[in-house]
Amino acid sequence: MAEEEFEEYLFKIVVIGDSAVGKSNLLSRFARDEFDHNSKATIGVEFQTQVVEVDGKEIKAQVWDTAGQERFRAVTSAYYRGAVGALIVYDISRKTTFESIKRWLDELNTHCDTTVARMLVGNKCDLEDIRDVSVEEGKSLAEEDGLFFIETSALNSTNVNAAFEIVIREIYNNVSRKTL
Ligand code: GDP
Ligand code: MG
Repeated sequence: MAEEEFEEYLFKIVVIGDSAVGKSNLLSRFARDEFDHNSKATIGVEFQTQVVEVDGKEIKAQVWDTAGQERFRAVTSAYYRGAVGALIVYDISRKTTFESIKRWLDELNTHCDTTVARMLVGNKCDLEDIRDVSVEEGKSLAEEDGLFFIETSALNSTNVNAAFEIVIREIYNNVSRKTL
């Protein structure tokens, strides 16, 4: 009988983007199915771990939150260290947050190599009435830069799990390819 194989998968995923786009709420929706109506930065909470299953394998997603560091444009290199996935988030009701995406991608590229799985996330898609960034704009930016793209709402749970799970599956595929 072959010995049973125990493999541990622990993937560090960072969530980046301008202040108040909903990064912390995407994380709390994903990890705890909670939404926080206060916009106070969750100081001190560095990351949360959520277990997901891919191809029958248990994967620990360790998702990091900037915890407000981005307000001072001071996300540290320690934040990015060892990341294998990234959610780059903007708010579909605030164009300036979309215009910042290039800068966030540049920052990601200075700290991480190109194998990091990247998902462009247009959050707050419940705010259709005051939409400021079209779906097409999001899509075409993602295509230009080779990113996955999804619109989410942390408020009503739309696509939040999907956003994380697509990234996790891509990381898993990258890892399996390497070990073939
Ligand atoms: P962060 O600074 O990027 O971590 O953003 P937060 O998660 O703290 O959210 C900033 C504000 O946006 C808070 O007032 C949240 O309640 C609100 N917010 C977050 N996600 C959504 C969403 O999907 N829809 C709506 N309408 N508001 C959201
Ligand atoms: Mg936050």
